[in-house]
Parts: sequence; structure tokens; C-alpha cells
Amino acid sequence: PLDVAVEDMKKNNYNSYFKKAGQKIVDLNNQAVDVGVSAAVKVEIPESWANAVDAPAQEIEATPFVKEIVLPMDRQQGDKLPISVFQKHGVLDGTWENGTSAYSKRGVATMVPKWDGSACIQCNRCAATCPHAAIRPVLLTEEEKANVPASFETVPAKGLGKDAPAYSYRMQISPYDCLGCGVCLTACPAKGALTMTPFDDMKPEQENFDKVAMNEAYLKKDVISDKNMKSVQFAKPYFQFSAACAGCAETTYIKLVSQLVGDRMYIG
Ligand code: SF4
Ligand code: SF4
Repeated sequence: PLDVAVEDMKKNNYNSYFKKAGQKIVDLNNQAVDVGVSAAVKVEIPESWANAVDAPAQEIEATPFVKEIVLPMDRQQGDKLPISVFQKHGVLDGTWENGTSAYSKRGVATMVPKWDGSACIQCNRCAATCPHAAIRPVLLTEEEKANVPASFETVPAKGLGKDAPAYSYRMQISPYDCLGCGVCLTACPAKGALTMTPFDDMKPEQENFDKVAMNEAYLKKDVISDKNMKSVQFAKPYFQFSAACAGCAETTYIKLVSQLVGDRMYIG
């Protein structure tokens, strides 16, 4: 009951703050409880929602393992999977196919960063600090530019070294994988290069991410190196789209290790 909950919260305020901070702080916390109760708004749910039906599942290109195990689990139907399907895929011992998080698109961020190539100084700090590998630098040749979607706008690449070819550069966001933590904005030294933008406006960018930023054919091996943080960010992160909390400070480093040695790394 509400009155019991309010009484308990106020008792807790007293126990937590009276000795350390005095009655004034207890009173302020009690006021916060009262405001919380009086400002509650009842949300009316339309009756029609009782009979809401799911939209048909979209057919996607994925491995049989993803289609038969990962996607049903993402739809909260893991308990309906028969043992035989795990047997069929040889994963009764708990082993798991690599790279399946790329198919578990969540789209949970309400605001995601939008890139402005004219303000960006191409330091790649945003990509280096993103804990979820949801923002990535891409380099394209003139020929490749002709084959990517028109919305994949680029600027001339800079700071790649005097021997680097004349590539074009874009920092590409994945709206459906971004968790909206804002770590990339905090790390960005260039005013206006990244701006938090409503998710709905940014949804069309997903195609650019999936078709270009995720396409290994566009990785530039002549630029990727472990000499500095900028160069290593052009490498593929093997640890990507983790389900860590938004802004996790640990996955950033696991991702970086996977960019440095990921194609020959074992984790025990
Ligand atoms: S807001 Fe967070 S999750 Fe999204 S791209 Fe920036 S650092 Fe990554
Ligand atoms: S951190 Fe800012 S300036 Fe650096 S690459 Fe990212 S968007 Fe550009």
C-alpha cells in the first residue's frame, strides 16, 4: 500500500541521513518522497492493446544458428526451443557461435550522435571510446565511393601519413546499436562534430552502417596499424555490440584488444 511505502521511505531517510547530515537533509529527502507521490501521472492504456499482435518477423540474412536459436531467444521465446535444435547445431555443451550480437539489434537509445564532417578533425577518439563499437571510421577510394549509398557522405581524409592514398573519410554511427551514453561526445575535441539527435531521425543511417561500415571489403590494411590510437580504429573490432550497460568503461578496452590482436586471440 502507498501509505506504508511512504512511511518506509521516510524511515529510511531518517536512518540514512539523520546521524550523518541532520534533520534538514532528512526533511529535504522526505519532501522529495512527497513530490514523487503527488506528481505521479496515471497513464491510460488503450483497450485495443489487449489484443495487439506482433508484426510478422522480418526475414534477415543470417546463419542458421542465428535464425534458429538467437532470434527466437531475442523474441523472448527461448523457452520454446527444443533440445534437438541445440543438438543439431552442436552446442549442447554451451558453446556459442561468434559474432551473433550483430544480429541482436536493440534500438534502445532515444538520442544518438550525428556526425558533421565539416567540423570533424578525424582524430577517431569517438570510435576509440565507444564501449559498444557503434561508431566507426570508414575510408573509401574514389571507385568505392561510387558503389555506396548516396547518403554515405564523406570528406577528404587527413592525417593518415604522407604516403597514404587519397582516401575519403566518414565517421559512421549505428543507430540501432548505440546506447546513447554520450561517451563519444565527451571524448570529441571538435565543437559541433557530433550532436545528439533523435533516434527516429537517425534510423536511415543504419543502412550505411550495415552495408559500408560493417563491410570488411572496405577495411584499409595499408592504414591500419598499432602505432597510434587513430590508426588502430580503422581495424575491425571483434568484440562489438556488447550488452554492457550504456557507457561501460571496461568493454572499451576489450574492444581495443580485439582490434589489436583479435584475429589470433583466445580468451580463457
Ligand atoms: S552515444 Fe555511446 S554508444 Fe552511442 S556511439 Fe556514442 S559512445 Fe557509442
Ligand atoms: S572524436 Fe570528434 S573530431 Fe574526432 S573523429 Fe570523432 S567526431 Fe571527429
